[in-house]
Amino acid sequence: MFSLYDETKLKAFLLEHGHKNFRYAQIEHAIYKDLACDFDAMTTIPKELRELLKTACYFTSLKIKSSVTSDDGQTTKFLLETHDGRFLESVIMRHLSGRNTLCVSCQVGCPMACSFCATGKLGLTRNLDFTEIVEQMMIAVHHLAKEDKKLRNVVYMGMGEPFLNYENVKRSIEIACGQKKLDLSSRRITVSTCGIVPGIQKIAEDFPQVSLAISLHAPTDEARRAIMPVEQTYPLDRLMEALDEYVAKTNKRIFYEYIMINGLTDRPEYAKALADLLHGRLAHVNFIPYNPGEGSSDSPMQPTSKIMIKKFQDALEAAGVPSTIRHTMGDDIDAACGQLALKEQEGK
Ligand code: SF4
Repeated sequence: MFSLYDETKLKAFLLEHGHKNFRYAQIEHAIYKDLACDFDAMTTIPKELRELLKTACYFTSLKIKSSVTSDDGQTTKFLLETHDGRFLESVIMRHLSGRNTLCVSCQVGCPMACSFCATGKLGLTRNLDFTEIVEQMMIAVHHLAKEDKKLRNVVYMGMGEPFLNYENVKRSIEIACGQKKLDLSSRRITVSTCGIVPGIQKIAEDFPQVSLAISLHAPTDEARRAIMPVEQTYPLDRLMEALDEYVAKTNKRIFYEYIMINGLTDRPEYAKALADLLHGRLAHVNFIPYNPGEGSSDSPMQPTSKIMIKKFQDALEAAGVPSTIRHTMGDDIDAACGQLALKEQEGK
């Protein structure tokens, strides 16, 4: 059995059974434009072909284990179960401006072990196939369609490190942006990495329009090493050199994510160090107030004060670096990356 989202396999299957190319185009249209949710709803293709497809391929392998919407209605989090009994998460964020964003996972768990992250506590189980990433998008597209809404943005900021599953992430972006497929603008796709340099180099070549976010979270090698093991492989000077090359090639502003954890990442001297690091660079910093549920239930980490975030913003403003404070959505539903899957794994 293979996924309907696997164009190569589907085309080969149709050819093998004597069907002309236009049949693939009809199926593609039924999936991505008519939003058929099962074979019987694909009424533009003959019944015999629908029956044949049922014998060889499937619409979805992911089961929705639970979906929870926050009290304000802005955030819906899906806990999804894979065919081999693993758990992953994706989150729809409905912004007040009307745009709808989906945060997708690209791995079950994550090997990068960032100390502030619930997914990092899980370790890596396996990479997701590109069809499993696309399935997350299709679940969101169907969910939003019931509300008469459309998916506009996709961010690869859920579970996993996208650049450690590059080929599957690449194929899923191709489907997200394919005109005959989901037809999202590549400018509305954001891939977030903790700083895997070869991935940064590849994405600049493959998708120069796609936005890049860097999980920076600390402005010096020493501070970064204390919370992000990736620093040992790709220290800050190597990372910044790769990012400068990325900007030279794409002319795109890079989004830097900076988590504000009391006494750890928000030390007063780090405000200046961060401003010095990004001064003169095409950058935008997103400050993320630490979500206390994120690390684990017994995590000693605490969110920083609003006053301290403001001090960091002032230092950046003086250095000419724009910044925003990320509005934390879905606190009441454990919407931070990995929290639900961690609870599921721990049987809570
Ligand atoms: S922050 Fe990202 S890279 Fe780090 S452990 Fe969590 S999912 Fe992995």
